[in-house]
Amino acid sequence: MKINIMTIFPNMFDDFKRESLIGKAINRGILEINIYNIRDYSKDAHKSVDDEVYGGGNGMLMMAQPIYDCYKAIMDGKSGINTYYMSPKGKKFDQDLAIEMSKEEEINILCGHYEGVDERVLTLISAKELSIGDYVLTGGEIPAMVVIDSISRFVKGVLSNDESTSEESFRNNLLEYPQWTRPYEYEGLKVPDILLSGDHKKVRDFNLEKAIEVTKKNRPDLYEKYLKELGG
Ligand code: SAM
Repeated sequence: MKINIMTIFPNMFDDFKRESLIGKAINRGILEINIYNIRDYSKDAHKSVDDEVYGGGNGMLMMAQPIYDCYKAIMDGKSGINTYYMSPKGKKFDQDLAIEMSKEEEINILCGHYEGVDERVLTLISAKELSIGDYVLTGGEIPAMVVIDSISRFVKGVLSNDESTSEESFRNNLLEYPQWTRPYEYEGLKVPDILLSGDHKKVRDFNLEKAIEVTKKNRPDLYEKYLKELGG
């Protein structure tokens, strides 16, 4: 999968691209992340990328020209590639959307700053607005990393077999059950004996029961969905 990012803070992606799962996937050629510095496309003598908001609103806004020229350089005659604009006003990003987006061969992501971007450029690049949650961050770079990390986990070959996504939170509208590792006893706390029983069915039932318990407690909205789908 190929991901093209438009940003005014390209260095923020250095470690992200180098480390952990994303770094490995890039090294293995499964993932390609190209960073485009919007400032490089500014036609302004000072390489400005922002200006005041019409109508006297607070703060600055990213100008259309550098973003649109950056976008055109990425597209370079290509078509059929979705462009996402990270924005608190966007559609809420979730696991289902991550799975959906992971099927795309190539996507563009625009990271905003200041008060956001000139509305016209969103029209010109047919941007789909995407929010990572109901709070406002300083810029779109961290949201872009959240989205990329999350969708990459569903790109074939990124996770190894023992890091499968099949039993993770949000599958079947349940959160993941609690888990333990060695030692058996730590600070007086023991691992539930049933997990050492070797009885796979009992372990599965126990994990499901715990998953239901944690979902009911922490995410009653998700638990409602679970019940609804269970009942058909
Ligand atoms: N004035 C905007 C508003 O009230 O909707 C907020 C702009 S915010 C300070 C600057 C940039 O951060 C946005 O253009 C967007 O790219 C990014 N951003 C902030 N919060 C976000 C969120 N929850 N999800 C995705 N992107 C976000």
